Amino acid sequence: MDKQLEALQKAFDEDIAQARSEKELDQLKVRYLGRKGELTSILRQMGSLDPKERPRIGGLSNKLKVYMENAFDLRVKDLEKTHVVKGVDVSLPGRMPGKGGVHIVNQVLSEIEDIFINLGFRIVAGPEIEDDYHNFEALNIPAHHPARDMQDTFYFSEDVLLRTHTSPVQIRVMESEGLPVRIIAPGKVYRCDSDVSHIPMFHQVEGLWVEEGITFAHLKGVLYSFLHTFFGPDVPIRFRASFFPFTEPSAEVDIGCIICKGRGCRVCGNTGWIEILGSGMVDPAVYGFVDIDPESVTGFAFGLGVERVAMLKYCIDDIRLFFENDLRFLNQFS
Ligand SMILES: [Zn+2]
Repeated sequence: MDKQLEALQKAFDEDIAQARSEKELDQLKVRYLGRKGELTSILRQMGSLDPKERPRIGGLSNKLKVYMENAFDLRVKDLEKTHVVKGVDVSLPGRMPGKGGVHIVNQVLSEIEDIFINLGFRIVAGPEIEDDYHNFEALNIPAHHPARDMQDTFYFSEDVLLRTHTSPVQIRVMESEGLPVRIIAPGKVYRCDSDVSHIPMFHQVEGLWVEEGITFAHLKGVLYSFLHTFFGPDVPIRFRASFFPFTEPSAEVDIGCIICKGRGCRVCGNTGWIEILGSGMVDPAVYGFVDIDPESVTGFAFGLGVERVAMLKYCIDDIRLFFENDLRFLNQFS
């Protein structure tokens, strides 16, 4: 019996020294001290001992039990001190936190800004909450003008609204800074609209260059340069006569369909062309609203939707994807 106890202690010492986690210690505890454990099974043999021997062996067994319990406590503290804490091995490589990225709309916006900065444009910002005067009136869109029906507007009151385009920034810059002016105004705009190709908030970039001697050739040169840098030097471009209240003459600009390369598809309505931006020479009536003599200068303006060009560049067919914050979508661009 003495020998059995001795052997048990030896085996226990080896096992506990090798235990690497709290879980392993728990298993050892069951193995040595549990109801069917090894120490218990030795104690069961007490009945077969000489009655005179029993108190001595009982004492030894108890001593061994206390010894084991202390050893377990010490080992747990040991493990906590080293690298294994409560079943977590802190020496294992960690799970890396997800890497963030710039949102695709902001990436495209930066790319557009960089191109225009290289063309000598300056970036300005304007308020998203606008008054009727700057959003409509001063852009030659008077009350009851049919052009106001082109946009469904979020109104706070009769006079205060969420801007429906970035064009009011043109007016604000000419009012406050005078001429010459060569700016782009990127920002959020708002319309009461929601479907596959419309969302209530989206981004526009407005451009304005007003100076003595600016002609339609400058307009074409700047837009060709932008579109060829953004979509590639081979993309076909065409100007199509159009109408905007604040430009005269006005032109919409189309690029050859990126998706079907001009053969015709659902996206381009089988025309092979996609409208990409609106532009034109600033209507002389607009200069009247900002105290500039329309005889002294000329200029051009243009506006484009950032999500729209992003959709074309990356073949995205639903504008709502930009704002659903689905990481599977966003991660493709980070
Ligand atoms: Zn097409």
